[in-house]
Amino acid sequence: MTVPRGFENELAVALHAVRQAALLCQSVRKEMAPGTLSKADLSPVTVADFGSQALVARELARALPADPLVAEEDAADLRKPENAVALASVTQHVAKLVPEVDSETVLGWIDRGAAPAGVSRFWTLDPIDGTKGFLRGDQYAIALALIVDGQIEVAALACPALPQSSDPGAPEGVIFTAIRGHGTMAQPLDQPQSASVPVSVASDADPAAIRFCESFESGHSSHSHAADVARLLGITATPIRMDSQAKYGVVGRGQAHLYLRLPTRADYREKIWDHAAGALIITEAGGVVTDVDGRPLDFSLGRELTSNRGVAASASAQLHERVLAALGEVGV
Ligand code: AMP
Ligand code: MG
Repeated sequence: MTVPRGFENELAVALHAVRQAALLCQSVRKEMAPGTLSKADLSPVTVADFGSQALVARELARALPADPLVAEEDAADLRKPENAVALASVTQHVAKLVPEVDSETVLGWIDRGAAPAGVSRFWTLDPIDGTKGFLRGDQYAIALALIVDGQIEVAALACPALPQSSDPGAPEGVIFTAIRGHGTMAQPLDQPQSASVPVSVASDADPAAIRFCESFESGHSSHSHAADVARLLGITATPIRMDSQAKYGVVGRGQAHLYLRLPTRADYREKIWDHAAGALIITEAGGVVTDVDGRPLDFSLGRELTSNRGVAASASAQLHERVLAALGEVGV
């Protein structure tokens, strides 16, 4: 019997990997004393970042050992003697999920993430996307995607602080997953046995009902240009300001219609791990994702989206067309 060549196994591995990483991030954040916002060597986000990458790299190494991983971090800094305390803390957090692991093994897993991008098949990982949100007590995400010949085939996006539904009182922690051509699903982070349910983008709305998402940090996306675009489109609702790729999940499940990421600097290039997982989550949920010039995001060029500027994602092609026209009009 021949099994059709899907990416079901890859998705199962990715889902398990981001869940483990999310559990580590939650446990680090729980231990964080309020006000640990300093950028000291042992900042909690550093520990969670490295721990998350170690766990995801380990899962990929076990299940898909031939697949390279292009991740945001490498272990060079963590190997420095002055960071021994941070390394011990990372190891201790990883050991909660992988008992009796030692620091050398953890460093080896982290370093698996240093593979070159731009090859025909690779995974890309942001172990904590939205580090500022993580520290602020807001949104953050663990974002993992498989890219084959420039196409995003598989995505797993864990959002540990995002309510499980659009009901603000819902319990927190949701994982979005997608396989290209098979739609987008969501599953509660804390219920690995529960069935994933399909999610989809919102249907077209009156301008007055349109909600858009943007970065919390105005240094990552121009709030003023977004306000200009909103005015042109007749959008009156206040923007949903949120850290991390959780924004892609919010649009993918129909809670908002638009995600705008408008360049703040001409020389900034978006990183592939900041968008690969999220982009598939929205397109498989029925939405459209391009850069601000309407070009498809090109994930085949290395660690950065060198041929793109910013990102615009919409719930429908019709809305997207209007958004691109408005972006042109306001001179983005
Ligand atoms: P967000 O939480 O959506 O604001 O995005 C967080 C990501 O923004 C980080 O992972 C960084 O890689 C990325 N970033 C850093 N500087 C910039 C910038 N100037 N423009 C756009 N993105 C940036
Ligand atoms: Mg990031």
